[in-house]
Amino acid sequence: MNFELKKIFLRKGKEESLGRFHPWIFSGAIHHTEGSSALEEGDIVEVLASDGRFLAIGHWQIGSIAVRVLTFKRQPIDQAFWQKRLAAALDVRKTIGVASKEEIVKSKSSNSKCNDIYRLVHGEGDNLPGLVIDIYGATAVMQAHSVGMHVCRNELAAALREVMGESLKAIYYKSETTLPFKAQLGQEDGFLWGESNDNIARENGLAFHIDWLKGQKTGFFVDQRDNRSLVEYYAKGRRVLNMFCYTGGFSVYAMRGGAELVHSVDSSAKAVELVDANIELNFPGDTRHNAFAEDAFKFMEQMQERYNLIILDPPAFAKHKDALKNALRGYTKLNAKAFEKIQSGGILFTFSCSQAVNKDQFRTAVFTAAAMAHRKVRILHQLHQPADHPINIYHPEGEYLKGLVLYVE
Ligand code: SAH
Repeated sequence: MNFELKKIFLRKGKEESLGRFHPWIFSGAIHHTEGSSALEEGDIVEVLASDGRFLAIGHWQIGSIAVRVLTFKRQPIDQAFWQKRLAAALDVRKTIGVASKEEIVKSKSSNSKCNDIYRLVHGEGDNLPGLVIDIYGATAVMQAHSVGMHVCRNELAAALREVMGESLKAIYYKSETTLPFKAQLGQEDGFLWGESNDNIARENGLAFHIDWLKGQKTGFFVDQRDNRSLVEYYAKGRRVLNMFCYTGGFSVYAMRGGAELVHSVDSSAKAVELVDANIELNFPGDTRHNAFAEDAFKFMEQMQERYNLIILDPPAFAKHKDALKNALRGYTKLNAKAFEKIQSGGILFTFSCSQAVNKDQFRTAVFTAAAMAHRKVRILHQLHQPADHPINIYHPEGEYLKGLVLYVE
């Protein structure tokens, strides 16, 4: 290698998880560091076992996860490296069919195959820990969750342009809220390359305004695409309630599926504006839809028993393991209300995106809710994150979205 990296030596025996290709090194595993100068957050470091054996190369930062591994091979981390990783990620999206062919996208048709909203990079799932890239038409929204990815952002943007070619016109960087505050990076969101005001993109032929400037995450919840399609499948003739609607993804699909009425609820007035705009974009003048800016619990407490398809997609109730107990109680309370009020023969779509809550714990919370409401409930489907949010097999922590579709007798 033609460059000298700062070195991190692990404590004896602490290299074991790296042998299983787990991409995180916790701060407690580190014995000492070596290098011509002190470590700086975002540095690319070489990780060695206590006996000096090479283990990995990764990004270092202060925090419980001290190193995020980029490679288990001795190799330069340069633009060619990023390009190779991004090309591999794009290949996966082509394989699963979410990155649609350019001619379909260009026609901007409502053909359900027309899809230009997808996640190109899903952190550890794409062997790029700390990095998320979502594609919205000709704009990529890049988000760094680690200082190292922030430091590399321009190199990454250059690599992304190479890989995406003509199909990409702009790269927006949106990391103000995802980078550690204490690192004092003074980070501001903005375009790294190009500029675009065309923020309408298509998911399965449905159009959405994407607010990458002020919206949550990168501007849209890309991870519910497949589950929204399932709502569309069940929506015909149903009275649909979409709780925690945000941009109204589920509502727009329910409308296309032929719902009799669709009500969308979110506590944020901005979200309600967005859902109204997205309905208008796809179904101008359609009176089947109404949106309400209200607290979910309050709305469900007061609502009539008129819905026979309810979607519950709340924000992560447990952001950390210590919040687990309260989170489970929250899921139970929320689902119990839905079981109480849903009509007989109704279908409940219920989700948890808390990484700290596993599939079994979520299922137990929902089971408890069903029992509290004395309803007969069958599980029709067990849902999860879509294929463009892949899980690195060596990093089970990457599994976060789970859902159940329930038939309530
Ligand atoms: N289902 C959405 C994503 C939901 S994100 C989609 O498919 O895009 C969670 C949403 O819950 C956010 O928009 C947030 O504003 C809203 N929210 C959070 N707490 C709430 C509450 N108590 N009542 C209603 N909405 C709430």
